[in-house]
Amino acid sequence: MNILFDLDDTLHDKRSTLQRCGARLFYEFDLQKYSDKAVFLVKFISENTVIQSKEVVFNNLAMEFGYETKLEQKLKDRFDQTFHNDAVPFSGVKEALKYLTKLKVVIGCVTNGRDFFQRNKIEALGLTKYFKVIVTSGETGKKKPDHGIFLDALSRMESAPENSVFCGDSLKSDMQPAKDLGFITVWKSSKIVKPDSVDFTIDKFYNFPSIWQAITKC
Ligand SMILES: [Mg+2]
Repeated sequence: MNILFDLDDTLHDKRSTLQRCGARLFYEFDLQKYSDKAVFLVKFISENTVIQSKEVVFNNLAMEFGYETKLEQKLKDRFDQTFHNDAVPFSGVKEALKYLTKLKVVIGCVTNGRDFFQRNKIEALGLTKYFKVIVTSGETGKKKPDHGIFLDALSRMESAPENSVFCGDSLKSDMQPAKDLGFITVWKSSKIVKPDSVDFTIDKFYNFPSIWQAITKC
């Protein structure tokens, strides 16, 4: 059995990273001249949580707080170049990947986002060494839920859906397409409800070994 993981909000604790990155940018660029830090952080996190280009994110921040065009561009550039420095994984992620590696499970990552940006994050999180393949929408031009990006990852892993698990947080982009293709699906969620596209749910990665044992007994 092989496994593919989504990155953001599955392995990568995006909210914590945004919190740290936003606070750092706020001080680096003296943004207290424009707004209170707490107000900035709420807007910074919410803009970066919506699926939209970073040009739009920083333009919206500039409009909200009255940043000059030059500052808007500098903030975006600095964000692109340094966001990964603040990247934090969810607790237990590394232990789960170590556990799978020991079992000789082939592990891959399928993530939507710009190629350099996603790869910088994976590297900064210390996860590169666990992945046999990393497939980004920026690199392939195919974006989840497009089945093509899942199939690209499988072919690079020399695996088939029926021998593979997909673990992700999004029902629409991860669980549904993975289920349609015949993967066993693991939903990263704290919810009790289990939609049809979900075979297993994981809230904390400390529980990963017991879920993996249940999957491999199937
Ligand atoms: Mg995600």
